[in-house]
Amino acid sequence: MSENLLVIAEHDNNKFSTATYQLLSTGHMLSEQIKCSLSVAVLGSITPKALNELAEYGADKIILVEDEKLNQYVSDVYTHTLSAIITQENPLLVLLNSSFAGKELSATLAARVRAAVATECMAVRKTDKGFEISKFMYGSKISAKIELYGKPVIAAMQTSSLSIVKSKRAGRIVKLNISVPETKFRIVRQENNTEKIPLSQARAVVSGGRGVGGSDFSVLEQLAETLNGAVGASRSAIDAGWRPVSDQIGQTGITVSPDLYIACGISGSSQHIAGIAGSKTVVAINKDSHAPIFSKADYGIKGDLFEIIPCLTEVLKAR
Ligand code: FAD
Repeated sequence: MSENLLVIAEHDNNKFSTATYQLLSTGHMLSEQIKCSLSVAVLGSITPKALNELAEYGADKIILVEDEKLNQYVSDVYTHTLSAIITQENPLLVLLNSSFAGKELSATLAARVRAAVATECMAVRKTDKGFEISKFMYGSKISAKIELYGKPVIAAMQTSSLSIVKSKRAGRIVKLNISVPETKFRIVRQENNTEKIPLSQARAVVSGGRGVGGSDFSVLEQLAETLNGAVGASRSAIDAGWRPVSDQIGQTGITVSPDLYIACGISGSSQHIAGIAGSKTVVAINKDSHAPIFSKADYGIKGDLFEIIPCLTEVLKAR
C-alpha cells in the first residue's frame, strides 16, 4: 500500500469535531476501495485520550505536530505546516472540512503545493485519472460532477451529510518535528460559544432574515432549541448587525445541508438559496405569498413569523 490519503483534523478544547470523524470515515471508505493507506494530520496540543479516540476511526497513521503556535487556526502557520506534511506524505487526496477556515486553508494549500482543489464537495469517488467530485456550482444553480487530476487533489467536504463509522484499523501516532514560523496575524477578538451546535453540523436550522426586524432572535432560538438545532441568518440580518457574521448562510456565507431548514422572514434571493440547496426539507415562513422562497420550499406557511413560530414551538414541545 504505497499510496496514501490524508485527512486534516479539527479540534477544540481537546475534542475532535464531528466533521473530523465524518472526514475520517469517508477517507477510510475510499482507502478501502482504492486499497491505500489513510493518515490524519493533527496540529497543536491535544490529550492522549482524544488521540486514542481518534485512532478508532480508520487512520493507519496519526501525524501529530505539537507546537503551541498551532493551538489555534491561523492561515499562515497552518498552511506552512500542512504543506510540509503534504510534501512529505505525498498523498493522492487531501480531505478537509468546508468550513470558513477549511475553505481558506484548501485554497492556500492548493496554491502552495500546486494542487487542484474543490470546496463544498458532497461526495468524492476515485476514477482512472483522478477524483470525481459531486458538488453544487454557480450559486447552487446546478448540481455538477467535476473531475480533478494531479497529485494531490484537495477536497473541502460539506460534511453534514457524511456518516461516521468506527473501524477495526487502529492508527499509530507519529510525532513530526516541523519548524513552525511566527504568525504574521494577531487575533484581536474571537467569540466562542462551545455549547452551541455548529451551524454547519446542525440537523435542523432555523434561519432569520430582514423579516425578523431586529436583533431579538429569541423566538427563532427557542424553536431551534426545541429541534436540537442551530440558528442561521440571511445576509440582510448580518449586515444589520443582528447576528454574528459566522451565522450567515449563502453564497458569501456558509453552506448548510440539514434535514430541516426553516427560513423565517427571508425572501429567497439566489445568493441565499446557494447556501441551502443541499437541505432535505425546506420550510418557508413569510407574510408575502409572492416571496420567491415559496418556490424553493417543500412546505410554505404564509403569515407573520412572530405568530407562527411560537405556535410551532409549542406544538413541537408538547410532542
Ligand atoms: P429581504 O429580501 O428584505 O426579505 C425579507 C422578507 O421578510 C420578505 O420576503 C418579507 O415579506 C418577509 N417578512 C417581513 N416581515 C415578516 C414577518 N413579520 N413575518 C414573515 N415574513 C416577513 N444573501 C444571503 O442571505 N446570503 C449570502 O451569502 C449573500 N451573498 C450575497 C453576495 C452578493 C455578491 C450579493 C450581491 C448579495 C448577497 N446576498 C446574500 C444578499 C441577497 O441578494 C439578498 O439581499 C438577501 O439575501 C436578502 O435577505 P432577506 O431575505 O433577509 O431580506
